[in-house]
Amino acid sequence: MTSDPRHYTCGEDLLRDRIILVTGASDGIGKALALRTAELGARIILHGRSVPKLEKVYDQIAARKNIPRPSIAVLDLESADAEGYTMLATSIEDEFGRLDGLVHNAGILGERYSIEQYDAVLWQRVMHVNVTSAFALTQVLLPLLHQSEDASIIFTSSGVGRVGKAFWGAYAVSKFALEGLSQVLADEHRHSGMRVNCINPGATRTNMRLAAYPAEDRSQLRTPEQILAPYLYLLGPDGKGVTGESFDAQ
Ligand code: NAP
Repeated sequence: MTSDPRHYTCGEDLLRDRIILVTGASDGIGKALALRTAELGARIILHGRSVPKLEKVYDQIAARKNIPRPSIAVLDLESADAEGYTMLATSIEDEFGRLDGLVHNAGILGERYSIEQYDAVLWQRVMHVNVTSAFALTQVLLPLLHQSEDASIIFTSSGVGRVGKAFWGAYAVSKFALEGLSQVLADEHRHSGMRVNCINPGATRTNMRLAAYPAEDRSQLRTPEQILAPYLYLLGPDGKGVTGESFDAQ
């Protein structure tokens, strides 16, 4: 294992020919990760719910010379049903026949309330988008991941998914659940060669962070582009054999 994945550096063809799906690739960390992994040679499947936002990311990648064109997979994780998940998996199977990387990055914050005041409907929404959809997407994509010689799954955690903090409500609980889902899945696949890990991005300059801390000085925050090293480490061949771990990106 590399000494510290936060400082991982790689060659410019690290991900050549790897097929990687990034959820929530329309904005923030997912968008930065999609652009960087495409630069490193991956065929990226840009997942999101907003076609115009995904098309902008698509255009940014397609405008670059000598990097593979991405694909777009539209699925609203709040409203998706079993048919929607199956259609997404079928389209990847038809186009690529396998999947080498799956990054569960999409998520919502919900509201910052105490547990006593937390709205039950909002609780279900946050748990559904952040946890249940990650389970459903993983389940439907596992057969394609099994077709890969070096499959890697990454779940996105948070500091409040390791230590509970007041007023983080369903968001914090959803991140604890993702850490658990990652560990269970890693253990189930310990002998299959497929690796499953969690990354906590840490405070990063995105719209979600702005919603959580509207008054903070954003110039002090790392940008999404600055926190990608552990993602690249886990998606590429150098992360082979690393599974069941939870990393901090900062
Ligand atoms: P962001 O800028 O708000 O991006 C979130 C992404 O998720 C967007 O692409 C968004 O799509 C997508 N998404 C949200 N709801 C969706 C739905 N129902 N269906 C499909 N896609 C949906 O947030 P971010 O800061 O980059 O966060 C990325 C991940 O890092 C999240 O899991 C977050 O919990 C985690 N994280 C972030 C920080 C931080 O400081 N930023 C810290 C710890 C953990 P739209 O563009 O359509 O909204």
